[in-house]
Amino acid sequence: MTDPSFASLTTLRVGGTPAAAYECLSAEQLAETVAKLDRDRDPLLIVGGGSNLLVADGDLALSAVLVRNEGISLVDDLRLRVQAGTEWDQVVASAVEHGLGGIEALSGIPGSAGATPVQNVGAYGSEISDVLTRVRLYNRETGADEWVSAESLDLAYRYSNLKFTSRAVVLEIELQLEATDLSIPLRHLGGERVPLAQARESVLGTRRAKGMVLDVADHDTWSAGSFFTNPVVPTAVADEIEAKVGEDRMPRFAAGDGQEKLSAAWLIERAGCPRGFPGEDAPARLSTKHTLALTNRGKARAADIADLARRVQDQVREAFGVELHPEPVWVGL
Ligand SMILES: Cc1cc2nc3c(=O)[nH]c(=O)nc-3n(C[C@H](O)[C@H](O)[C@H](O)COP(=O)(O)OP(=O)(O)OC[C@H]3O[C@@H](n4cnc5c(N)ncnc54)[C@H](O)[C@@H]3O)c2cc1C
Repeated sequence: MTDPSFASLTTLRVGGTPAAAYECLSAEQLAETVAKLDRDRDPLLIVGGGSNLLVADGDLALSAVLVRNEGISLVDDLRLRVQAGTEWDQVVASAVEHGLGGIEALSGIPGSAGATPVQNVGAYGSEISDVLTRVRLYNRETGADEWVSAESLDLAYRYSNLKFTSRAVVLEIELQLEATDLSIPLRHLGGERVPLAQARESVLGTRRAKGMVLDVADHDTWSAGSFFTNPVVPTAVADEIEAKVGEDRMPRFAAGDGQEKLSAAWLIERAGCPRGFPGEDAPARLSTKHTLALTNRGKARAADIADLARRVQDQVREAFGVELHPEPVWVGL
């Protein structure tokens, strides 16, 4: 590999150099590499497409294990088995091309198939948990290479019990799709169902307008996607915020047990952090298309991204008393 630095391995394009980098081209090689590093007590970081990672600058005392096993196969007419290192959007494109529905709303999400269960990726009202049946894991605690059910991962909003724990490595995933001409109801089209290929194009178009499809030439996409999860707060707190801001329609959605989910992007803007914040000269800025994405304008370092994240968190806390939690995984910061 010519440049194993995290600046070249992640979509934020920041971060220092790992002690070593191992490219794993098969599921077995991936499991064996992790097993060996664990036996030797060498700290490691599993890296797929690097699109949900913020890694510290400088020389890092960890090895990067690169998930590069690729391939999509059919288990039966409706079930896909996908190697963890396969680019996720290729999986969606292939399913759509073959008239298999269920993941079209997840078009354009960067990164690897193996990372999709890690934070239960989702977009436009759809989540990988809707179609994920089982996952082949290398269990780092027991050393077992085993298929486990999707239910055993505790999948929830941008969460699974794999995220932040590093307890296991996803080697392959299995998806149950549907033979159909029409998409699932698409939230951004008011619940309408449209032909699969049209659904994919529509989602990609909407995502592009927000800088949510990777494009080397567009600094608004040098990001980790949405940087904060949408906060869940008691209804009374949501009422207070709505009254304080005094706008007619604050986005708020029932989240059970007297709780409501608010829009992090909306709160960030109302807390005085508009698009492009903090301004032209800053190396790290909010995207000019979407307040929820923190972006590298070309010369940012990991520390700049982390500083901006903390500044946004502080302003939202001061304005509304709400704590924003980062969605990407932070390493060494
Ligand atoms: C422009 C843009 C738009 C995005 N839009 C969305 C969106 O709409 N919805 C959404 O949910 N996310 C979105 N994301 C976030 C990101 O793309 C997803 O979280 C994606 O699944 C991360 O995949 P990755 O392979 O890049 O993971 P990485 O960034 O490489 O890794 C993320 C975490 O998962 C772990 N990991 C990776 N692979 C494995 C594996 N095989 N086994 C175990 N652990 C593993 C890593 O160690 C790390 O902790 C977006 C990101 C960007 C840059």
